[in-house]
Amino acid sequence: MAMVATREEGLNRLDIFLNISGSNYTQFRNYDYGPNNHKSVSLLSPYLRHRLITEREVVSSVLAKHSLRDSEKYIQEVFWRSYFKGWMEHRPYVWEKYKSELNNQLGLISKNKFLNIAYEQALAGQTGIKCFDFWVNELKETGYLHNHARMWFASIWIFTLKLPWELGADFFLCNLIDGDAASNTLSWRWVAGLHTKGKSYLARADNIERFTCGRFNPKGQLEDSADPLSEPEYDIIDNVLPASDLHQADKYLLLVHEDDCQTEQCFPENLNITGAVGLQSTALRSVNTINKNISEFARGALESSLMKFGPDNKIIEKDWASELLSICKKQGVRNILMHYAPTGPTADAIKKAMPLLLENQIEISYILREWDKEIWPFANKGFFKVKKKIPKILESLNIRLS
Ligand SMILES: Cc1cc2nc3c(=O)[nH]c(=O)nc-3n(C[C@H](O)[C@H](O)[C@H](O)COP(=O)(O)OP(=O)(O)OC[C@H]3O[C@@H](n4cnc5c(N)ncnc54)[C@H](O)[C@@H]3O)c2cc1C
Repeated sequence: MAMVATREEGLNRLDIFLNISGSNYTQFRNYDYGPNNHKSVSLLSPYLRHRLITEREVVSSVLAKHSLRDSEKYIQEVFWRSYFKGWMEHRPYVWEKYKSELNNQLGLISKNKFLNIAYEQALAGQTGIKCFDFWVNELKETGYLHNHARMWFASIWIFTLKLPWELGADFFLCNLIDGDAASNTLSWRWVAGLHTKGKSYLARADNIERFTCGRFNPKGQLEDSADPLSEPEYDIIDNVLPASDLHQADKYLLLVHEDDCQTEQCFPENLNITGAVGLQSTALRSVNTINKNISEFARGALESSLMKFGPDNKIIEKDWASELLSICKKQGVRNILMHYAPTGPTADAIKKAMPLLLENQIEISYILREWDKEIWPFANKGFFKVKKKIPKILESLNIRLS
């Protein structure tokens, strides 16, 4: 599956998918027909993840083609993404805790011979569970797995192989082109029974056989119960949701980052943007090696976005603080303008850069998209709270129903 990292390619894919985004999606979305044959889903996740196209564009286009009733399932899936992102904004410590627990588990596993062998076998696709081993290779080669395969995979990792969920989530982040701090961490926690407390997801052989159309049947190989994992109570909402924060300045340097590469029609028109720079934070997705499918896609997305600002726009991949400072100084700019970066690697990179920038009186202005602003306030509990607000949210966003 060749993934061309441009907005045009995202829009083309959306266009092709529109015909099947209604009742066809509702009926067939759970079938995984195998690599190069994911014909019942949109494959838009890498484009949405990097916001080469936006959730608003996807939802508006689908609703221009189908009624909300016919396309409800698809619209809800897009809202799952926004729900997870908003949920994480309410509790950014869940991302921090995941990263520190990942390091902890990597340390522990290196000291436990048996666990280490099981971990290495899982990463190499040599567990003897044919479907699981197949998905390991599909993921490494293509950078994508169908949603149902992700659920089965995570469940087998946690409940059959009995490996720490953080190591599996990290394996996904190292290999998924759409790898996202919120969707990935929270989906793994959901399968483990930590997101919806006490409710885990068990992969069953007959379900795998049915929805892979008989390609796999791991009968007798999978654990037949999934006791939800537990952890100390720490479900406290400790974050005030972000809002746009635009500092007045005579000129701005635009910072395009991998969480939001779509720079058309979204900044106030009267702003004097004198240059643009890209910030690539792919390396911060994991302490382990990132698959080159991912870095190439992220780089391509940034390059294609920056192209409209001229041919010589730099992409910073490390030393974010000193590099940004030097560009600001060179261009005589004191204000950096960017889309808000939600909890995850880009926000981590910005956090690292902040002290040096502030010390040098460089301010950061950021714009929060209306889409996120409308949805995130409802994303503090379960998905149902967001789901029942969908028609209202669409109305507030002026998205027309057909
Ligand atoms: C263990 C696990 C890990 C996951 N990790 C990620 C991840 O890192 N990044 C990611 O974008 N998605 C993740 N997902 C969610 C989902 O599997 C993918 O978004 C989906 O498979 C992408 O394929 P698609 O674009 O063809 O989806 P479609 O079915 O066409 O859905 C349309 C869009 O809705 C969004 N979406 C769909 N399902 C979900 C979902 N369950 N949660 C959140 N958003 C969703 C995606 O942006 C997707 O592009 C994960 C799911 C599981 C079970």
